[in-house]
Amino acid sequence: MAASTGHGYVGADMDDSPVLVWFRRDLRVTDQPTFLAAGQNTRALALFVLDQRLLAPAGAPRQWFLYGCLRDLDESLDGRLLVVEGDPVEVVPRVAREIGADSVHIAADFGPYGQARDRAVERVLTEQDRELVRTGSPYAVAPGRVRSADGGRYRVFTPFRRAWAEHGWRAPADTDGGYLDWIDPGTVKVEATPVPDDVTVTAELPEPGEAAARKRWESFVHDHLLDYADGRDRPDQPGTSRMSVYLKYGCVHVRTLLADLAAKRSAGAQSFRSELAWRDFYADVLDQRPDSARRNYDRSYDVLKTGSGPEADRLFTAWKEGRTGFPVVDAGMRQLLAEGWMHNRVRMITASFLVKDLHLPWWWGAKHFMRSLVDGDLASNQHGWQWVAGSGTDAAPFFRVFNPVLQGERFDPNGDYVRTYVPELADVTGQAVHKPWALPDGPPAGYPAPVVDHKRERAEALDRYEAVREAR
Ligand code: FAD
Repeated sequence: MAASTGHGYVGADMDDSPVLVWFRRDLRVTDQPTFLAAGQNTRALALFVLDQRLLAPAGAPRQWFLYGCLRDLDESLDGRLLVVEGDPVEVVPRVAREIGADSVHIAADFGPYGQARDRAVERVLTEQDRELVRTGSPYAVAPGRVRSADGGRYRVFTPFRRAWAEHGWRAPADTDGGYLDWIDPGTVKVEATPVPDDVTVTAELPEPGEAAARKRWESFVHDHLLDYADGRDRPDQPGTSRMSVYLKYGCVHVRTLLADLAAKRSAGAQSFRSELAWRDFYADVLDQRPDSARRNYDRSYDVLKTGSGPEADRLFTAWKEGRTGFPVVDAGMRQLLAEGWMHNRVRMITASFLVKDLHLPWWWGAKHFMRSLVDGDLASNQHGWQWVAGSGTDAAPFFRVFNPVLQGERFDPNGDYVRTYVPELADVTGQAVHKPWALPDGPPAGYPAPVVDHKRERAEALDRYEAVREAR
């Protein structure tokens, strides 16, 4: 018999059999709907599966951060997190059988791989007469729930955001580490895998875990939320929240942030809510079109001419290393290497440069971002890239080609951002840093000359995009 918990979630069977709580992108104990669904004080085993199919392409920053989150979660559960390496389709049913669990509780995953994996796990569990219970998701509103009046799904952000706000979201779930009666993994006959502690990262990464997420959020709200609407576009200032990585791994749920913002009417709070809506929007779009993770959302862009061969490889390497000769692009690419994170404005500038100045395929850049970003998220990343490339839903107009010098002068007006990440330019004062080739003595020693002529490549990009339009 399922019982209501009073929170709108369905509670667990009220018999003695334990449940399995399978953590994935929800590495926290507060605001955990899966705990509510399992039912307070239920005997439960906490499980995380180290799945190489997700870990291998993640890159060192994300691996390092994930392992830190797992240690933090284990501490919150008094050392009762069971970590097992393997294929979840094999591991989860095996562990469930071992403890005699009737049900396995998860927050729903909406990525293409996650959905397929969960369906496969569910098939095996069903054969064993066990249930996979999905409660909540990593989003304020789960993909597929925001619908237009005629029941359709949105392809354009602004109407999505309106409907999203009208739809609303649940209040945070009132849970903590002691909500369930955790089974000691040492009593379970399954070989545990130690959480790896040998990942080498050169980037200086944020502190993993739930307490760090809370601390980061509180300091952002206190120091920068009020000015966020303007401050968010300035890479030279610490005006954004840097919550993306904590949202990615579920160290905090987006619902908690929205609840904190609920009473705030400032332009900063409105603007921040809107950015969170982008995150939900892109997850919804990816759910509608899983193929858009790898291919153009707008397939008419399949005919866009892009570079290949040794010259393309040379330009791609210069871009990855932050040696294009365009200071704001180079600063962004070096910030990515140094911190595993890049400011949103500069993500747009560097992406535009790759696609429209270097004429390289957006998915080359997207793959590099996914490997290097600590917040690398398939939905936000692939669609952020396609927005810039013009091939996505609700994309930037194809004729918008960011001018890296003007972007630098506008959003890094004193040149501080560039000087922070490009030491060769540290002695160039003021805005002149955005045009080192125009300095009286030319670019400082060690800093490269521009790899392309922006004006010429802009015209070339417009020709190539025009050809796509004509071919439609
Ligand atoms: P804030 O400005 O503080 O924003 C608050 C939150 O809103 C973010 O943490 C994020 O969850 C969400 N958000 C803000 N802007 C966007 C956006 N454009 N799309 C989706 N969500 C948004 N974001 C990722 O989380 N992972 C990625 O892999 C990723 N790749 C991107 C690639 C490109 C080419 C572009 C243009 C954008 C990408 N973004 C990605 C979106 C955005 O750049 C980051 O979310 C943001 O820079 C994270 O920093 P923050 O937390 O300080 O942002």
